[in-house]
Amino acid sequence: MIKVKKRKILLLPGDGIGPEVIAEVKKIINWFNDKKSLDFEIDQELVGGCSYDKHGTPITDEVFYKALESEVIMLGAVGGPTWDNLEFSKKPERALLKLRKELKLFANLRPAICFKQLVDASTLKPEVVSGLDIMIVRELTGGIYFGEPRGIKPIENGERKGINTHTYTTSEITRVARIAFDLARKRSNKVTSCEKSNVMEAGQLWKEEVQELHEKEYKDVELSHMLADNCAMQLLRNPKQFDVIVTDNLFGDMLSDQASMLTGSLGLLPSASLGAKNKDGEMRAMYEPIHGSAPDIAGKGIANPIACILSFAMALRYSLDLDKEADILEKAVQDVLNDGLRTKDIMSEGMKETSTSAMGDAIISKLQ
Ligand code: NAD
Repeated sequence: MIKVKKRKILLLPGDGIGPEVIAEVKKIINWFNDKKSLDFEIDQELVGGCSYDKHGTPITDEVFYKALESEVIMLGAVGGPTWDNLEFSKKPERALLKLRKELKLFANLRPAICFKQLVDASTLKPEVVSGLDIMIVRELTGGIYFGEPRGIKPIENGERKGINTHTYTTSEITRVARIAFDLARKRSNKVTSCEKSNVMEAGQLWKEEVQELHEKEYKDVELSHMLADNCAMQLLRNPKQFDVIVTDNLFGDMLSDQASMLTGSLGLLPSASLGAKNKDGEMRAMYEPIHGSAPDIAGKGIANPIACILSFAMALRYSLDLDKEADILEKAVQDVLNDGLRTKDIMSEGMKETSTSAMGDAIISKLQ
């Protein structure tokens, strides 16, 4: 078999169940190296609370520069009660914010997939969510969370005023819209762009720029515009009408959380954050499960590794251009669920409860 170029993957397991779920991804990467002759080069470093414990900082300069040079970063999760009372700059989460900001990870991709085997885990009726497969693309580095002026200031009548500014430029909108259109081409070819163009100028600009880009470069993709509040309603009423939803930072924050909960299981949902190119022209990207470090179950060997494994499948698809391998991995996960294997968080009657590492092994056995 032909050997392909070495691809650098930086593993940042982090805290709590992070190292447990990343260990399963590592097994899968090694499987691809051994069995498919894919030359993934793995490096592993501390980040978050464990980095603070060893180095007094949630991310060292050395790890940060490694991250800047890596094509793919796989993050477990950071944080936990041990570090809750640290000063703000030392908190584990600062490492994530620094990576997101400095790597310019401007597009956050969150699929909401409802596995047919787990349809009862959703709070919605099975017929509403069964077979659901949505991708939410949230703009991550602009909008009201970053706009200036911001702050809290005293005003003349003795009250205080809180100020945040919602701003978007043409390039900020078009670069994230382009990601949504490109993704749609690999899926069901439909994009819904959400804003509040009825009440916000930045929303009006958003709508116009997405429309213009569509006319210039993506006429083959079906585009519709929807007000963000209507999108929130439609996600509950008929979520299967959507394929790719693209929206700004603020609305994306809400809509992606809402969409992920349609599926009812935190341990299954992956995410990707895509950014600017590195010096070799490769797109920087960080992949991570949407769940946190789950301190309540850390060290017990019962965490569900599927969200992290599916995050790696996203890395195969979106960073490494290995669609076939991503398909194989996603199918292996489906097969294991079809066999009735469940970690504790998704356990139900008649199914077989399994540990984190046994779940990883079962997925690998399906890859064979
Ligand atoms: P959490 O996602 O860690 O846990 C919420 C609940 O879901 C817990 O009961 C947990 O046991 C369960 N759970 C989560 N992932 C699971 C998995 N893979 N398998 C089985 N069960 C799972 O959220 P939280 O409790 O609000 O936060 C705990 C810590 O994680 C906090 O310190 C928080 O700041 C941090 N956090 C980190 C990230 C991140 O690193 N990206 C994201 C969210 C929260």
